Parts: sequence; structure tokens; C-alpha cells
Amino acid sequence: MEDELTKEELAFLASQGLGAADVFDARYYSQATWFRLIKEAGKTVALGSPCRKGRHRLRSRKGHCVQCDTKVLAFAGRYDLKQYLYIAGSLRARLIKIGVCRDLGQRIRQICAERHGDARDWEVIYAVKIERAGEIEERVLARLGRYAIDSQYWKNGFLQQSTELRRCSISLALKAMSAEIEGKDYDTATDWRDKSAYEFD
Ligand SMILES: [Zn+2]
Repeated sequence: MEDELTKEELAFLASQGLGAADVFDARYYSQATWFRLIKEAGKTVALGSPCRKGRHRLRSRKGHCVQCDTKVLAFAGRYDLKQYLYIAGSLRARLIKIGVCRDLGQRIRQICAERHGDARDWEVIYAVKIERAGEIEERVLARLGRYAIDSQYWKNGFLQQSTELRRCSISLALKAMSAEIEGKDYDTATDWRDKSAYEFD
């Protein structure tokens, strides 16, 4: 797939946390056919015919140009797919982070590099793979709303506001997460046996 994409398209995908592996080649199918096939293939983006406005070729599962409107993609990526919902902790910052990602190893390297909470010692302590992870993440964060802290981090050269950090214990975070995933279908990906070091006040 990578050979079929231009340098610009690959750079765009990278900016959205995606790669060539997330792209379905829809160019040789009718719309009705690729709408079905892209779901079966579990891909996020279609390589299709050029859009009218910018001659872009990358489209959402619903056929919208994702380069003209990146919101389309943010929504699809965060809400539609089965992803990891995780709780990470930093002993140095004494903070908990709730998040969603497609690749746990890659994400932990990223949050350490971006120095969330000014720390580089983040570890994923608990993670599940679940449908609509983005939506559940927001509910877990809301449950822990009163533990929110203001923090900024660097991403692609820009200072960003972090909304996913909480100053609370791992037990509280787990309780909030359990309340939201209970009764849903999920696979446990990570579950540290001894979480006691992360029982922050
Ligand atoms: Zn476009």
C-alpha cells in the first residue's frame, strides 16, 4: 500500500496518527462495494478518486475527503473502531492518564517523548481493547473530572493543552473505567498485578 501513496499523503496520515496500513485501496471498486469492503478490512481511510476541491485522494469510510476536513477522520478514528482504552501512570509526575490508541507500544513511546506532565516514565498499567473506545474514554474522563489538572505538552512543534491527565489514584481510575466498560464486550490487553506504586493521593 505504501508504494501507492504519495509522500504528501503519507505525511498527512502520519499527522493523524495513521499509516499506510490503515488505508484501503478503493480505486477499483464501486462506492457501494468499497463501503462494505473497507469495514470488513477494518481500515480507516480509503484511497479513492480525487476530491473536487483539492484533488485529494484520501477519503473517510463514508466517502468524504479527509484532507479537506480532518474532523471527519478524527471522528471516524476515535469513535468507530475497536481500539485500546488505557490507563497510564507516571511515578515522577504522580499523575494518571486515560487515553485511546491503536498501538500501545507506540503510544507509550509517544507520551514519554511529548513529556506529558513533564515526565518520561509513563507506563500503561491497564488496557482493554473495546469498540467505541473514544466515546468511553470521554465518559471515564468525565467521571474523574474533579481530578483534572492543567498541563501542556509539545506535539509537532506546538504546545498543546492536555485534557487527559488526572491527579488521582490508580484505584479510582480503575473504578471509573470499570463502571463504563462493565457489561460490554472487551479483551484485557494489560493488567499489572501490582499497581500499588500508582496509588497517588
Ligand atoms: Zn479534498
